[in-house]
Amino acid sequence: MKRREFVGGLAVAGLAGCARPESGCDSDTDRSSETFEWSCVTSWPPRFPGLGMAVENLAERLDGASGGRLQIKVYGGGELVPPFEVFDAVSRGTVEMGHGAAYYHKGKVDAAQFFTAIPFGLNYMELNAWIHYGGGLELWRELYAPYNLVPFLCGNTGVQMGGWFNKEINGVEDLKGLKMRIPGLGGDVLRRAGGTPVTLPGAEIFTSLQQGAIDATEWVGPYNDVSFGLHKAARYYYYPGWQEPGPGLECIINQQAWDSLPPDLQALVAVTCQSITIDMASEYTNGNANSLQQLLADPNVELRAFPDEVLQHLKSITAEIVAEMMASDPAAEKIGKAFYAYLDKMEANTRISEQAFLSTRKG
Ligand code: CA
Repeated sequence: MKRREFVGGLAVAGLAGCARPESGCDSDTDRSSETFEWSCVTSWPPRFPGLGMAVENLAERLDGASGGRLQIKVYGGGELVPPFEVFDAVSRGTVEMGHGAAYYHKGKVDAAQFFTAIPFGLNYMELNAWIHYGGGLELWRELYAPYNLVPFLCGNTGVQMGGWFNKEINGVEDLKGLKMRIPGLGGDVLRRAGGTPVTLPGAEIFTSLQQGAIDATEWVGPYNDVSFGLHKAARYYYYPGWQEPGPGLECIINQQAWDSLPPDLQALVAVTCQSITIDMASEYTNGNANSLQQLLADPNVELRAFPDEVLQHLKSITAEIVAEMMASDPAAEKIGKAFYAYLDKMEANTRISEQAFLSTRKG
C-alpha cells in the first residue's frame, strides 16, 4: 500500500507527500524529506487547561523537533468528531491521531481501563514504570492491535482529589443515596455502595452541583477544579482521589498512519509522548500546589480526609468489581493479572521508599 493512500480521502488530502518529488518517495533514503500533515481529534474542550493543552504541546513539539516534517492539527472534542468517538475515528482512519483517556472505552474495550486508572491502583510513577519497563506497553499494543491502533502514554494528572461534596461523608452510610458525578469504575463502585453515579459533560458540572441536581462531583484536583469554580458550588473538599490515583492519558495512532512514518519520526513520536507525560504531571503538581493555597485561604471551603472506614469499604467493593470484570473478559483477565502482580510488587517497594520518606517529612 502506498503511503499516501493509507486511509482514504481525508488522509490523502492531509498528506503533502514528497518534499522532493523528482526523487520519488519510495526509497528509504528519501523518507527523511517527506512531510506528514496529520489531524488529531481529542476528548477535551479546545485548548482546555492541562488536558487539552497537553496535546497542543505534543503537536508543537513534534512540529519543532521534526523541522516541520510532522505537522499535526489538533481538534477539540466535537469540532471534528464527538469527544467519546475519538477511538473509533482513529481506528477507522478518519484521522491519523487521537488524544484522550483509555478508560473512556469502558463498555467497548473494558481492559483498556488498566492503562488509565484503576481505583486504589498504580500511582503516576508506578504507572509509568509499568507501561515503559514492566511490560504494560506490550499488553496495551496487543489489546489495541485488533482495532488498528497504536497506543502511547501521553500525559498524567497525578493523584486526583476525592471531590467536592455538599454532604458530609462521616461513614459508609453517608454514601447511600449520594448523587455524584463520577465516571468509570469509580462510578460503578459508588453504585454498589448505594450511591447514584451520574455522567455529565464538563460544562454542566458546576451548575448541577450549585443547584443541587447532584450532591457531589469529582473532577481532577485543585488546579482544574478551581478553574471550573467548583469551590463556589460545594463546601467540603475530600481527599484522597481513591478513584484515580494517577490517571495516564493516551495518544492513539492509526496503524497505517504509524507504518507510513519513517523510523526517525516514529522514534520522535514515542519520545515526545513521554516528554508530555512528565511535563503534564509537573504542570499539575505545580498548579495543584498553587490552587491549594487559594483554597486553604477560602473560609467557605473545608478540606477533609475520607474516613478510613469509607476508604476500606470502597476498596473492597473495587476488588469485587474488578474481579467480575476479569472473570467476564479474557483480555481483562490477562491484563488485570499482570497489573495486580505489578501493583503487589510495587507496594512492597513504595512502602519502604516514597511512602516511608513522605511520612517522615515535615508536613
Ligand atoms: Ca477525575
